[in-house]
Amino acid sequence: MTVPTVPRDLQTHAIRAGQQRTAECEHSDPIFATSSFIFNSAADAAAKFAQKTPGNVYSRFTNPTVRAFEHRLAALEGAAYCVASASGMSAILCLALALLKVGDRVAVSTSVFGSTVSLFTKILSRFGIIADFVPLTDLAAWRKAITPDTRLVFVETPSNPLCDIGDLAALAALAHEAGALFAVDNVYCTPVLQQPFALGADVVVHSATKYLDGQGRCVGGALVTDDKALHEKLFNTLRTAGPAMSPFNAWVFLKGLETLPLRMRAHCDHAAEVAHWLVDHPAVTKVHYPGLASHPGHDLAARQQSGFGAIISFEVSGDKDSAWQVIDSTQMLSITANLGDVKTTITHPASTTHSRISADERKAAGIGDELIRVAVGLEPPADIIADLARGLDHIEARSKS
Ligand SMILES: *Cc1c(COP(=O)(O)O)cnc(C)c1O
Repeated sequence: MTVPTVPRDLQTHAIRAGQQRTAECEHSDPIFATSSFIFNSAADAAAKFAQKTPGNVYSRFTNPTVRAFEHRLAALEGAAYCVASASGMSAILCLALALLKVGDRVAVSTSVFGSTVSLFTKILSRFGIIADFVPLTDLAAWRKAITPDTRLVFVETPSNPLCDIGDLAALAALAHEAGALFAVDNVYCTPVLQQPFALGADVVVHSATKYLDGQGRCVGGALVTDDKALHEKLFNTLRTAGPAMSPFNAWVFLKGLETLPLRMRAHCDHAAEVAHWLVDHPAVTKVHYPGLASHPGHDLAARQQSGFGAIISFEVSGDKDSAWQVIDSTQMLSITANLGDVKTTITHPASTTHSRISADERKAAGIGDELIRVAVGLEPPADIIADLARGLDHIEARSKS
């Protein structure tokens, strides 16, 4: 009998990778809602506790549903190993706990997720870990910031909310020259649009809460790596520190992954349509979307991503009142800072996601009061456009009178 070759297509991995059928012959993945596992004998228990034979002991360590999710996400990223966690933030925390000690430095892109900034500046700083923040696109500044004490380089690309694009291959080379590990937060693109391991990443960080779920149901995260020794460190840290992913959430994410490639392509198509409409709107003064040739990161994004993503930010003529008016005039879009959902979301970064940084810092980061961020969902683009037009058309009329 010939063994069929495993198809390597991403969509096939998204649907098939990681499932291990039980003797019940179930078609869909089961949820193993169990905190512990039983042993065949005292000797079996001893061997499994000593990690001499493989097998489940306790769901903080391993759980079959969580393992299926880990294998599927690893397959999608083109890597061998994955450790799932209770949230994206706990994944980043465990990455730091596994790799860093007092006196170590981390070079972090300035525009990373807000809680990631706080984790480094407010919590890990108390344990003697020093974070050096570097503008994502400034390679000269990265060269300067990465020192022999730098153990980890951590970037998120595209950035939130302006979609700056970091050069992953160049940053990987700089990190490796200094003997540091290179971690990429791949939440915005997912492995469907960006494959950081092919560009030199050592670890990929995920918040499963966003596109991997895709329907805004559960909070979860993951660390992916192709390095066996690194995986062991991450796994041992997470199983001891404790932020394990729940089996129920893992099951929801497994279902989410099945449609991830299809959803991401549709997200990109819808976002492109909305972005082009925004460019032509008289009340819009600027659109930040890497799919537009006018975006400074367009060429790089076209090289290192297989799609431009679904996050758009744009500036309206006028001030904060105009921006709030556009947001408040929507009837369908969800006013929330979340993203990665089938439902389109709209937010005012200056007064929400970026409200805790000072007005000067916001200005330096290019996040003005007239900026709006839209995470484009899967409603037909015509309906998203109609909802944005409600407020935008009003601004045009008012500024003309
Ligand atoms: C949401 C998010 C995180 C944190 O993930 P949680 O699941 O909310 O803990 C990290 N990075 C990015 C880019 C995110 O959008």
